[in-house]
Amino acid sequence: MTLKKKDIRALTKEELRDFFVENGDKAFRGNQVYEWLWSKSAHSFEAMTNISLQTREMLEASFVINHIKVDDMQRSSDGTVKNAVKLHDGLVVESVLIPTDTRTTACVSSQVGCSLDCKFCATARLKRMRNLNPDEIYDQVAAINQESLLYYNHKLSNIVFMGMGEPLMNYKNVLASIEKITSPEGLGMSPKRITVSTSGVPKMIRKLADDGVKFNLAVSLHSAIDEVRTRIMPFNVNFPLKDLKESLEYWYEKTQRAVTYEYVVWEGINDNREAIRALVKFCKYIPSKVNIIEYNPIDDGEFQQASKKAISDYVSVLEMNDIVVNVRRSRGKDIDAACGQLANKSGN
Ligand code: SAH
Repeated sequence: MTLKKKDIRALTKEELRDFFVENGDKAFRGNQVYEWLWSKSAHSFEAMTNISLQTREMLEASFVINHIKVDDMQRSSDGTVKNAVKLHDGLVVESVLIPTDTRTTACVSSQVGCSLDCKFCATARLKRMRNLNPDEIYDQVAAINQESLLYYNHKLSNIVFMGMGEPLMNYKNVLASIEKITSPEGLGMSPKRITVSTSGVPKMIRKLADDGVKFNLAVSLHSAIDEVRTRIMPFNVNFPLKDLKESLEYWYEKTQRAVTYEYVVWEGINDNREAIRALVKFCKYIPSKVNIIEYNPIDDGEFQQASKKAISDYVSVLEMNDIVVNVRRSRGKDIDAACGQLANKSGN
C-alpha cells in the first residue's frame, strides 16, 4: 500500500515549522519553505535552491505541491484576459484579468460551479462540484499578478471575488486565501483592495462582521422586492430581504463600513418605478452605493438588458436621493469573460 502524500500547502506556517523541528531540523527551515511555496510560487521542491538536497528529498517523500495550471488563456479585444484554470483533480474554473489604464483587477472563482440558482447566471447551470482550497484561490490571483506584470507592466491592484461560486458558501477557505494574499509572505496586498461579492447569505454576513474582516463587501441585490428577487434568485425564499437587511445593519454596526449593491436592470422585470422606489428604500438602511451592471446575455431569451431610458431613470432617482451610483460597462464579453458568463466554455 502506498501512503497518500499530503498537500504541503494545506499546512500553516506554524505546522510547517513544527514539521521541521519534529524531523530534527530548525523551525526556521519552515519559514524558508513557506516563502518558496507562497511568495515565490514554487511548483516543485527541486526549485527550492537554498534548501539542501537531503531536505528536499525528505519533503518529496512526504508531500506533494498541488498547483493550478493555466490551461487556456484567451484575450479579449478590450484587453481582458480569461484563464481556464485546471485544478489538481482535473476540474476547471475560470478567472479574469480586467485592465484599465492605471490598474489591473483580478476576478477570481471560489467554487467549482455554484450551489445557488440565479436564473440569469451561466455558472448557476453548472452543478457545484466542490469548494476551492485556499491555495487554489491564491494561485488564481498569483497567476493574474504575473500576467499583469507581463502584459501591462504593473502589479495587480484589486481583487474581486466575482468569478464562479458563492464565496460565503466557502467561507473558511475564502478567508484563508485572503489572509495569504494580504500577508507579507504572500502577495502583501491591502485588504482595502479586495471585494467579496455575495448573493446575500445573512448568517455569513454576520459572521464576517464578527470576524472583523477588513475587506469590502458587495451584495448582488438585483431587486429589493421579495417576490421579484425570489423569481430571479430562488434561494431568496430562504434568505428573504428582511434577513438580508438585518444582517447588513449588523455588518455596519460592527464595521462602520458601507456596502456596494450590484444591480442589473432587466426589461419587464425591474425596469419600473416601484422597483426603483424599493431600491432607494433599501439603500437607506445603511450607508451604501449602487453599481448598475450591464446584463451579459447567457444565450436564452428570458432576460433582456433594459433600455437606456430605464437605466437613466434609476440613476436620476438614486442621485436625487443622494445615493452614489455607478453604471458599469461590461468587459471581456467577446470571450465570455464578463460577469455571469463564466461556465467553462473556453477551449471546448
Ligand atoms: N455569487 C457571488 C459572486 C459571483 S457573481 C454573487 O452572487 O455576488 C458576480 C456578479 O455577477 C454578481 O453580482 C452577479 O449577480 C452578477 N451576474 C451574474 N450573472 C450575470 C449576467 N448574466 N450579467 C451580468 N451580471 C451577472
